[in-house]
Amino acid sequence: MNDVSSVKVVGRLAPSPTGVQHVGNARTYLLAWLSIRSRGGRLILRIEDIDSPRVKAGAAQQAIDDLRWLGLDWDEGPDVGGSHAPYVQTERIESYREALLRLQRTERVYPCTCTRSDIEAAASAPHIEHEGAIYPGTCENRSALDAVTLGDRPFAWRFRTTDRDVEFDDRMVGPQRTNVRRDLGDFVVGKMDGSVAYQLAVVCDDHAMGVTEVLRGDDLLPSKFRQLELYSTFGWTPPAFAHVPLVVGPDGRRLAKRHGDTRLATLRQQGVSAEQLIGLLAWSCGLRPTREPVTARELLVDFDLCRVSRERFVFTEPHPW
Ligand code: GLU
Ligand code: ZN
Repeated sequence: MNDVSSVKVVGRLAPSPTGVQHVGNARTYLLAWLSIRSRGGRLILRIEDIDSPRVKAGAAQQAIDDLRWLGLDWDEGPDVGGSHAPYVQTERIESYREALLRLQRTERVYPCTCTRSDIEAAASAPHIEHEGAIYPGTCENRSALDAVTLGDRPFAWRFRTTDRDVEFDDRMVGPQRTNVRRDLGDFVVGKMDGSVAYQLAVVCDDHAMGVTEVLRGDDLLPSKFRQLELYSTFGWTPPAFAHVPLVVGPDGRRLAKRHGDTRLATLRQQGVSAEQLIGLLAWSCGLRPTREPVTARELLVDFDLCRVSRERFVFTEPHPW
């Protein structure tokens, strides 16, 4: 049923074209699509390619082909256009630079000259896996204006986090409490060459594109709190967040190459159909009692995010299709 508010729901699929999409990505995109489409909302496809050294040629088109093969669609995107164009991050850099300038003018960032090993060496507290050491605050007494005095010394623009507990609800994980300064530390939002980091770009884009729900993998859960700090600094309304469990290998680690070839393109070549894969994914999420093949569209009928399993799904290879 659509009530008036549900019409305004806007979500996004935001693949990074850093390689090929695999079974784990497919599950997250399927849920993001179902969550929005089941409420009659709009979807945007955005290609997150600012991480240039890791971007592989042709990978953006490959991501689009993979998503289409799964039976997912979108109302706006690089291939279909729309009123929030462009939909490729490397074409939106000017807007990120403006945002960075705002942070510099309001002293919310400072130039940090620490190297990764400086930070590792100075940080004592244990840190969350994949998150790196918590920044110990070495350069926090600098002002944004001090950047000009650094000469040729390489530096990054680091965001000044606030030392207070924030609570925020997550549609999947539930309410959570964090002190960003203590638990995550000041984080990098830009480099001296004018390039910006994921944290800043994603907030600028989701705000500019009117996104009301961000559904993504729970590896990005800590980043939610960093991004909420940015929303609050800019005075922007944050979207609702839903962080869904990842697909892991038998060793409990996030699905990756070491677990065998689970690329969608490979499954396709092996003759696996999108319906077979969606059937497996729907079963893995607890949305269907069996792995019976099904289309994404058929799952819309009774979809409810509350029914999605909170457990990580262990993908074993070779898989009985
Ligand atoms: N582009 C990111 C990824 O593919 C997703 C970022 C996000 O959803 O905020 O992992
Ligand atoms: Zn520093």
